[in-house]
Amino acid sequence: MRFKYLSIPFFILILIGCDSSSENKPTQPEPFGIVIHGGAGTILRENMTAENEAAYRSVLAEAIKVGHKILENGGSSQEAVEKTIHVMEDSPLFNAGKGAVLTADETIELDASFMNGETLDAGAISGVRTIKHPISAAIKVMENSPHVMLSGKGADQFAAEQGLEIVAPEYFYTDRRINALKRVKEAENKEQETTLLEQQFVKNQRYGTVGCAALDKNGNLAAGTSTGGMTNKKWNRIGDAPIIGAGTYANNASCAISATGWGEFFIRSVVAYDISALMEYKGLTIQEAAKIVIHEKVAKLGGDGGVVGIDNQGNIAMEMNSPGMYRAHMDSKGNLSVKIYQDE
Ligand code: ASP
Repeated sequence: MRFKYLSIPFFILILIGCDSSSENKPTQPEPFGIVIHGGAGTILRENMTAENEAAYRSVLAEAIKVGHKILENGGSSQEAVEKTIHVMEDSPLFNAGKGAVLTADETIELDASFMNGETLDAGAISGVRTIKHPISAAIKVMENSPHVMLSGKGADQFAAEQGLEIVAPEYFYTDRRINALKRVKEAENKEQETTLLEQQFVKNQRYGTVGCAALDKNGNLAAGTSTGGMTNKKWNRIGDAPIIGAGTYANNASCAISATGWGEFFIRSVVAYDISALMEYKGLTIQEAAKIVIHEKVAKLGGDGGVVGIDNQGNIAMEMNSPGMYRAHMDSKGNLSVKIYQDE
């Protein structure tokens, strides 16, 4: 009697074991990939010189290749995101690390955040002034503190105690950002209407954040974002970049997202988490979810900007409602695409 009942599953097991077709199937390589942004805004061909455009494309390609190599060699998405962002933080072209925008008081206040999609651990810092690589400080907060977010002097002190590279505030300053602050202040104080070009310029000074989302060969997702925030910001203003769920989110069940754009609207729209939630709870693809959140939520509130993201299968989204977003993608086969304008 006992044998009779045991024999059915046993028989099935033997049948499965004998299925030689599954043994001979070539094993699928694990998907992996990486996607980055260097800020979104009124990036128009007519306002861009050929040299400038080439310089942006070149740093984007250099940065993403660093992360791709790590992933290709079996490294973690966390390491890929961190090292990729370092390249953009070191480049004066982007509004993160060196070359960050200036506050109204002519100081630099940097924000960054990171999230690990496997553990749902996260770390963030805001308003720091001396940390060369703010993204690494966000990761240290995640790994070596009982907190998720540190700010101001305390965050600078924590980073120093953690042995991160500390620089004098002057390290971050560039002539381009000093002049930009002057121009934005002049426009602010002008009584009469400013020209369209001037309005575009002022609006653009909100942008230039950098971010990265990656999937590694173990199926783990990670995302990070680093920024100087908005030119001429006052009162220790903090944008979406260091806010988990707004500027950055990662969850192995869905996707990894980094956002860029007008931070106030991205905080109110809880952009990065909303994309993940639409995927997790409603079964939307990453592209469908990113489209809804950018075009139906952020845009309807009056905000602009974009996101880059990757899901747990390596599918990506690069969605924006601004004329451009510096962005790049590399897949597991090593195909690289670098884009700037929306219509590319
Ligand atoms: N989102 C950033 C902020 O509001 C700015 C940007 O992405 O360019 O601080």
